[in-house]
Amino acid sequence: MSQNENLGRCSARVYAGSFTGHPCTRNAKVLREGKPYCGTHDPVAIADKRKAKHAQWDQEAKEKGIRWAAEEKRRKAIQQLCGHIPTDELDQYELVRKAGDSQQ
Ligand SMILES: [Zn+2]
Repeated sequence: MSQNENLGRCSARVYAGSFTGHPCTRNAKVLREGKPYCGTHDPVAIADKRKAKHAQWDQEAKEKGIRWAAEEKRRKAIQQLCGHIPTDELDQYELVRKAGDSQQ
């Protein structure tokens, strides 16, 4: 930990709440390309977090895609079963059914 004390303050600027920003007040934990960074602003940690987030998004998109594909398959199956019957023919079936009902 004695090495960390020599790094001084984090070199990142924080833009939360102000337009000009202010230097990060945390003590640096790591050196990246000669610049000291705290745990929050460590570019490697940020990149890792981003990667993890993207991996999560990819997974969610994959799951959504699978659900969507299943829904699309179901929709197409219904369309194949019923889609070829013209509407006027369906109306005829309906008339025949009604005629059958009235005879009973
Ligand atoms: Zn920082």
